[in-house]
Amino acid sequence: MAKTPEHQQRTDAERIPATGSGKLDSHATESAPRRRTQRGGRRASPEQTREHLLSERRAAVEELARLTRAAEREEPGGTGESPFEEGDVAQATERVDMSLMHRARIAERINRLTRGLERLAHGEYGTCEECGRAIEPARLAAMPEVAVCRDCQERRERRERAA
Ligand SMILES: [Zn+2]
Repeated sequence: MAKTPEHQQRTDAERIPATGSGKLDSHATESAPRRRTQRGGRRASPEQTREHLLSERRAAVEELARLTRAAEREEPGGTGESPFEEGDVAQATERVDMSLMHRARIAERINRLTRGLERLAHGEYGTCEECGRAIEPARLAAMPEVAVCRDCQERRERRERAA
């Protein structure tokens, strides 16, 4: 295995950002359009939105897989090794129920994220599914999977509570 001397690495690390920022600077003064950072409106481009949705979905899928593996280890009667007392069984069952609920919620979020990607592909992303108005940008930034505006969400929740 060839070993790079440590001082060599250090020089490279120092040199690269120096030339890089130099290039960026000259570029910025010449031709860069001025609004590449999100000032003011802070509306993400479709590409950024797609990346955001995909990375959120990837993370959710990984979490779901992790929880599923953990739950399989914990399922009462799964191993049959530990002699459960009644209280332990109740507690373990409760844990499994919680985990199931938690996993169901994540699975639902994955579906919503997938639907968000479809809506994005159809140019419908960011528009409320119910009233057709634009969804608040801050709301979309916080929860990229939402498909309804805040008003409609609240109306929906009131309806669900009433049911
Ligand atoms: Zn709405």
